[in-house]
Order: sequence, then structure tokens, then C-alpha cells
Amino acid sequence: MPPDSIYRSAWSNPEIETFRAGVRRFVTAELLPHEEAWKTQQHVDPAAWRKAGELGLLLTDLGEEWGGGGGTFAHEAVVAEELVYAGISSFGNAVHSIVAHYLHNHATDEQRRRWLPRMASGELIAAIAMSEPGAGSDLQGITTRAERHGDHYVLNGSKTFISNGYNANLVCVVAKTEPAKGARGTSLLMVETAGLPGYRVGRILEKLGQKGQDTCELFFEDCRVPASALLGPAEGLGFAQLMQELPYERTLIAVQAVAAIERAVGLTVDYTKQRKVFGKPLFDMQNTRFTLAEARTMAHVARVFLDSCIERLIRGELDTVTASMAKWWTTDLQCQVIDECVQLHGGYGYMLEYPITQMYADARVQRIYGGANEIMKEIIARSL
Ligand SMILES: Cc1cc2nc3c(=O)[nH]c(=O)nc-3n(C[C@H](O)[C@H](O)[C@H](O)COP(=O)(O)OP(=O)(O)OC[C@H]3O[C@@H](n4cnc5c(N)ncnc54)[C@H](O)[C@@H]3O)c2cc1C
Repeated sequence: MPPDSIYRSAWSNPEIETFRAGVRRFVTAELLPHEEAWKTQQHVDPAAWRKAGELGLLLTDLGEEWGGGGGTFAHEAVVAEELVYAGISSFGNAVHSIVAHYLHNHATDEQRRRWLPRMASGELIAAIAMSEPGAGSDLQGITTRAERHGDHYVLNGSKTFISNGYNANLVCVVAKTEPAKGARGTSLLMVETAGLPGYRVGRILEKLGQKGQDTCELFFEDCRVPASALLGPAEGLGFAQLMQELPYERTLIAVQAVAAIERAVGLTVDYTKQRKVFGKPLFDMQNTRFTLAEARTMAHVARVFLDSCIERLIRGELDTVTASMAKWWTTDLQCQVIDECVQLHGGYGYMLEYPITQMYADARVQRIYGGANEIMKEIIARSL
């Protein structure tokens, strides 16, 4: 789906567009035919991860020495965009990439060697477990505890809303290693869950949208994990590690939001041109034309802002405040534009067999996860 026939993102180039064509072929041949079945079963088949790995579509922006594609965030953006353009909301590549970045930027070489190549091949599927039933926005309130016993940690607690939760076999768990120290007593543990006694995946949660995405509860009951699961050189660095990766994950969400806006506008232009009302195409009504002209303008403004974030992220210069602006503003806009597009579809816009309806349901959570948009505004306001 070419978002714009005149404008071209400065971060793109012929090599990236060739890569995009390959991603599109993979998405069309290997993911799209299964999307409906995955929505019914509420999770992706792990085989799809291994196929994506074989084709070099996982960890595209990490070095080849770690099994990655040797590219930049531009490659990650292309994968995220192509999934959205195709209407795939089940394949949780974004979370996988975010965990890979925690590892790449904060792990020891030994830890990177242990996990990154297997993540790149799709053998390991990653999740990040921060949220708990009693603590989401206020992460300092988590109660999951990792207690050191010799060369092991004993992990106890429960997490909820964890994306990739059903399929994941590598979970980045946010836990308190020294509860009395608050944020400075919080650490990240990389937990390989296959066959781990005391680890249990709860039900796959029934959601409004993103139905093929396995969002789960996770339970840790006296789980003994090796001390080498601790991310980084010392305990207590968890919050700092989480903070440092915020621009990356917030930009990825904004990429998804802008791609969704572009797709929604394209779908609605097509629909209104073929739908007849009062003897002429719906598109010919002034309200339709103006609504879509406004939506197209907003898509373009969002694209230009996003592109500047992508370019700065590639250069390693994107700050958390700007990334928070991109996250809240593009996801709010995504919901606003898609709502207008649903309206222009009339009753068909309420029928789940229409892509715009699914996009409406998929969009809502974008304002809630990855840090609720109100949290984004708090972060921006603190900088004023
Ligand atoms: C589909 C889905 C996937 C998710 N995936 C993951 C995942 O992979 N890993 C993970 O750890 N978590 C995940 N989450 C959890 C998500 O990050 C949290 O839901 C989110 O951070 C909000 O936390 P909460 O639900 O506890 O809401 P609360 O913290 O209870 O907040 C509720 C609302 O209160 C308002 N609010 C909160 N704090 C403030 C404030 N300081 N100022 C003003 N208003 C405020 C906001 O409007 C917020 O939406 C996912 C959630 C969903 C729904």
C-alpha cells in the first residue's frame, strides 16, 4: 500500500524497498492465509515464527554476529508497517524486537550469545512481563519478587496482559530483588520457561480486538531460575534499563499507528468510490470528500512527524519526550481517523467481516498499552 504517491520517507532507499517487497511476500503467503484461524485459536502457530526467522525477518536491526539482519530501525519499521498494511494483528513481532533490544543493550556478551541467535531464528519467542493485576501504569507497585538463593533466584508473583504470553518461551520478567529500595530494587530477569517447574500460563484473555494475539496471565510459583538470568551486571538496574528502551518501543507503536491510519484512509477511499448513495458514489458527497481530505492531511502530518522520529532513532538521537509525543498523538489520531472511516462505511462499518471494523477494534488498545497516553502526557509535561 503506497501511503503517498508524492512523498517518500527519507529513511527509505532502494535496499529497504527490496526488503519491503520480501516482507510483503512473506506476509501475504505465510501469515495472511492463517490470520482468521489464529484469531479463532487466539494465538499464532509457532511454526510461523520459525519461518519468519528463516527468512531473516526477526531482529532485523541487530548485528549479524547475534543472528540479526544487520539492518537499522528502518527494517523494523518496514516489518511493522507491512503487518499493519496486510491487516495482521496477531503476529507479535514488536514485543519480540523490544526484548531483543533489552538484551542487546544491557546483557553481557555471554547472555547475548545465549539468547539472541535463538530469538533471531524464531526458536525462542519473547514476551515482556511488567504489568500485574495490581500495577500497570505505576510499575513501582509491582509485587513479583525474585529472591537470591545461592546461584539461583526464586521467583514468585503473577503478571497479566502479557503479549505473546501463550507462545513465549523467553520471558523478560520485571521483579523486585530488593523491595525496600523501590525502583532501585527492581531488576529484569530473562526466564526460559520451557519445562520450568512452578511456571504456569493462565488463560488467553478474551479481548476487544487483536484477537489472534495471545495476551495472557503468567504465574510464577517458587520458580528457580539461574542467577545468570539477571539482565546486566548487577541487581537494581531494571528501571533504568526499562527507561532507556522507551524511545524504541514507543516509536514502534507510533509506526503501527501511522500505518493503520494510512491503510484506513486507503480502504475508505476505495469503499466510498464504489458505494452508491442517492444515485451517485458516496465519495462524491461533499462531507465524504472533506472528511477524507482531512484524514489524508492528518495521515501525512503524522507520517512526516513519525519519519523524523525514525530518522532520529536510527541516529541514536531520539529522546523519550519526543517518542512519548509520537506515541500518544499518533495513537489518538489512529482512533479518531478510523472512527471517521467506520462512519463512512455505514452499517458495513459495524460488520467484523469488513477490515475497517477490525481496525476499529484493534486500534483502541494502542492508547492504553506501551504506557497509557496520559502517562505520555505526564512525561512531556515534566519536560516543560
Ligand atoms: C492488549 C494488551 C497487551 C498488553 N501487553 C503487555 C505486555 O506485553 N507486557 C506488559 O507488561 N503489559 C502489557 N499490557 C499492559 C499495559 O501496558 C497496561 O494495561 C497499561 O500500562 C495500563 O496499566 P493498567 O491496565 O494497570 O491501568 P492503570 O494503571 O490502572 O491505569 C488506568 C487508567 O488510568 C489513567 N492513569 C493512570 N495513571 C495516570 C496518571 N499518572 N495520570 C493520569 N492518568 C493516569 C490512564 O487513563 C490509564 O489508562 C498490555 C495490555 C493490553 C490491554
